[in-house]
Order: sequence, then C-alpha cells, then structure tokens
Amino acid sequence: MNASKNTPPETLDAVVIGAGFAGLYALHRLRGLGLNVHGFEAGTGVGGTWYWNRYPGARTDSASEVYQFWFSDELLRDWNWSERFPAQEETERYLNFVADRLKLRPLISFSNKVTAARWNEAAKAWDITTDKGESVRSRYLLSCLGPLSEPKVPPFKGHEKFKGTFLHTSRWPKGGIDLAGKRVGVIGTGATGVQVIQTIASQVGELYVFQRTPTYAIAMRNPKLTDADRTALRARYGELGERVKFSLTGFAFDMQPKPWAQTTKEERRAVFEQLYADGSLIMWGGNFGEVLVDQAANDELSEFMREKMRARLTKPGAAEKLVPKYGFGTRRPPLDIGYLEAFNRDNVHIVDLLESPIECCTETGIKTGNAEYPLDIIILATGFDAATGAICAIDIRGRDGVELRKLWDRDITTAMGLQKHGFPNFFTSAAPLAPAAAFCNVPTCLQQQVEWISDCIAYVERNGKDKVIEATQAFEDKWVKHHDDVTGATLIAKVDSWWTGANIEGKPRRVLSYIHVGNYRKHCEDVASKGYEGFEIR
Ligand code: NAP
Repeated sequence: MNASKNTPPETLDAVVIGAGFAGLYALHRLRGLGLNVHGFEAGTGVGGTWYWNRYPGARTDSASEVYQFWFSDELLRDWNWSERFPAQEETERYLNFVADRLKLRPLISFSNKVTAARWNEAAKAWDITTDKGESVRSRYLLSCLGPLSEPKVPPFKGHEKFKGTFLHTSRWPKGGIDLAGKRVGVIGTGATGVQVIQTIASQVGELYVFQRTPTYAIAMRNPKLTDADRTALRARYGELGERVKFSLTGFAFDMQPKPWAQTTKEERRAVFEQLYADGSLIMWGGNFGEVLVDQAANDELSEFMREKMRARLTKPGAAEKLVPKYGFGTRRPPLDIGYLEAFNRDNVHIVDLLESPIECCTETGIKTGNAEYPLDIIILATGFDAATGAICAIDIRGRDGVELRKLWDRDITTAMGLQKHGFPNFFTSAAPLAPAAAFCNVPTCLQQQVEWISDCIAYVERNGKDKVIEATQAFEDKWVKHHDDVTGATLIAKVDSWWTGANIEGKPRRVLSYIHVGNYRKHCEDVASKGYEGFEIR
C-alpha cells in the first residue's frame, strides 16, 4: 500500500467513485472543506462519459456554453470551445484541462474499479475495496458514476462464435477501428446509433442498420465558434449560468410562456418552425409544456416532426420504416447531422427487426428470422442500464448488511436521488428519482447535486456527534410519492424506453428521472435550509 503517488491513505474522510463531471467537482469541493478525499476511476484517465464513449461521431447534444462548470471564473475565462456542440475529443480535453487546473489528478487512483463497499457500524465508516486490491476505510462514500455508464449488452445467441469485431459503442478502443470498405452492422438507433450511423455511412463498404424502434431526429445546427462568438457568449455566462438552474431541463431555455389553448394551430406551427430552425434540443425542452402531458398536443407536434423527417428521406419505403409512431419527446430525441440522409445512400440498408427479430449471431454475421447478413464488424449501440446499473455493479451493503442491488431489484426508490435509507453517509449523483438521472442537461444537474452533497457533508461535519447522516424511511417514501405524482402525469411514463427502465429485462418500472430541474433544486434547497429535514444526523 501507499506505493504509488496516487495511492490513497488507508483511512479517508471521503471516497469519490468516478472521475467525470461529478467526480472531478466532488473531489474539488470536498478537498476545499479540508477533508482527506480520494477518487477511484476505472478508466486510465478522467472524463467519465467522455472518456468511455469515443465511438465515431460522439458529441454533445448540449450547447458548449451550458456544458461546462460554472463555479470558476478562471475556468470559464480560459477554456475556448471550438463549436456549438463539441465532439467527444474536445469535451474529454476540457475535463482534462479542468483536472489539471484544479490539480485533481494526484487525488485519483486510475484503472481502479471499486467493486465493493460495506458500511461498518462500529467504525461509522465505509470499507471499500477495488479490483486492484486496494482497501480503504472512509467516512463518506460518493457515487459519481454518471447516469449512463453500465453498457447494455443484449445476450445475442452465438455472439461468441462471431469471427469479426464485436463491440459496444461505449467500449470503443482508443486507437479506433479501421472501418474503410468493411461490412458493418449497427444494432440500435438511439442517440448513440444515430451518431455512429451518420458518421460511418460514407466510410464503410456496406452498412446494415438493425432497427427495432425508429427514432425522431432533429437536424443539428452546429456552427464553428469564432473569437467574436466566444466573446459574446462569455458576456452572457453569468446570465446563462443562472437560467439553467431553474429551467425545466437544465438548459438556458424554458418552455413556451403562452398556454397551448390560447394559441391557434398556425401560431403553434410558427413556433415549431422557429424552434426547429435553431437545430437544438430547444425543440424538445423549449416547446409548449402541454406536449409532455397532453396527447392531442403531443400528436400535433409529433406530426410536425414526422413531416420534417419525411422530407429528408428519398428512398421509396424508407419513411415508413424510419419515421416513429410514438409521441415526440416521450423518449430522448437525438440531434443529428445527416442521419436520415445516410439512408438515402445505396450502401446503407435498414433491417427492420419489428418485421423479423435477430435470431442469433453466426461465425460470419447476424441471422434474423428471414435473412442472414454477412458482416466484418458488429457495433452494439444498444444503450445502458441507466441510473442504477453502474451503482449496482458494485456490491454495496448498508446497515445490517442490506444489499442495495437487492432492494433495487424489487423497487427503485431513493431520497431525492441523493441518498437511500439504510445506507448512511452514502451519497449518490445521477441516481434515480432526480433529474440528473435523465431529464436534464447533465452537467447542470450534477453540479447542483455535488454542491448539495458537499454542503450537506460540511453541515454533518459541524453538527453530527458521530458525523453520520441518513435519509429517513418516511422522507424517502414521501419523495417517491411526490416523484411518482409528478412523473406519472406525463406521457413519458406510458412509453417504453431507458427513461422508464423498460430497456432492461426485469428492471422494476418507474420513470427514472424526476421531471423539472428548477423545482428539484427548490426542493433540495428547502431541505437544506431546514437543517436537512428528512435526514437523521447523529
Ligand atoms: P438507447 O437510447 O437506449 O438506444 C438503444 C438502442 O438499441 C435502441 O434503438 C434499442 O431499441 C436498441 N436495442 C437495445 N437492445 C436491443 C436488442 N436486443 N435488439 C435490437 N435492438 C436493441 O441508448 P443510446 O443510444 O446509447 O442512448 C442513451 C442515452 O445516452 C441517450 O438517450 C442520451 O441521453 C445519451 N446520449 C447522448 C448523446 C449526446 O448527447 N449526443 C449521444 C449518445 C447518447 P428499442 O428502442 O426498441 O429498445
């Protein structure tokens, strides 16, 4: 132990799991409290999502001016975004810049995956172990694993027999893969599939897109930023940083101020056109609020989106397959750069899995019910076990040895997504029943959660005799009920997607994310202002 400079001392005040947006900020904040804090990261570098997801075409769907840390004038001053929606490489570079500026690297053990954490009541601390045999004791444990880090790899029969390359998008090798002229199959058409397909269509020989549910696509507008653009945006950082905090989705825009019922169809169409022309998620998070809860309103907007999509498709029969039937915005709508146009190419083929599902992989490709597709490379863009998957990959046992994954196997509940009753001093970010789990421009929500958690820890350090805090069962139950009331009123609750946990077989069904970033923040602030009401401090 303690051999390398990044090896943690065996007894710590706080352990942070993950070195993405939340993890880096948590290390910075907790060190600022004077705590002895250490981070563990499975990857070889910082970046989290932006370290792991290096597949072709990976980029943010959030504009760069709201996809950054707000707390440091120096970081805001010295980082220059090159385009409106930065690519993976740039976002990863940004997080490396942050880690270096804040001198966080020495606090992190890389290539070190936390495998187990057990609450030790006698020590009033967590005993934490990693796959590299590290073993530390820490008073506080923070999960900063991100909402989408545990890949979903469907158990396709016979995949081990496939002789070509078979990989999940979130495990793309650093050196890349030679796709030139290859026969490639992409399974999945969510936000990831969209980016992969549109990017590789012109590089590969033949591209087979195995689609189950078609996706909406909003044509992205992604201008390069000039010095003048950056200066103008910087002048607005103060205002934007405030706007994201109380919006519906954590972006610097909010829903339409005028109620749906007080507008004519023509007025609404003009609004849709204006939002669509922006080429951003304002089409979703800045639309009429009614489209999230009212079927007729949603139908009207969905039809508008379908029209936009049909107009981009030229091959006979393509629109029938590629244009969704479910309601716009009830699943996460991706931005795209030429996704639909990729299907106008002669080398791109759509394989409709609703007509004939995948039966198995063979040595040479994929077999569906009615055809065989010879392939050199199979790319799984099949998504993630969101919000719970990465946390449950760790054997976390709370008071009396209770296993978190067993609880969540039955019912996914939390206290504001920040704690779970029975797990003292264990804090979660991007966990279920908070907007950071899905319904948010994620950096906005992660920063808010890290600030709440670190303020809470400071409070417990000052006021707790044993320095222990735990959500009460009554508070957790109250939050779950409130969460279900809010989310159950939306159309999202009625649709199968990762947002409802429906993409993972056997996962208990619940809208994973709380809906309304600003309201969530107010709830969190209210709890804190009342001395962490609903939490027992001892
Ligand atoms: P996803 O939205 O869950 O999409 C997974 C895709 O794989 C779906 O089309 C799904 O079909 C398909 N699939 C899953 N299992 C399958 C199976 N056994 N057979 C056939 N098809 C299968 O995952 P994702 O695309 O990785 O995106 C997840 C989230 O990550 C996004 O919603 C977004 O929040 C985030 N993301 C963001 C960006 C960005 O900001 N630019 C980029 C990528 C991802 P079904 O729908 O029928 O299940």
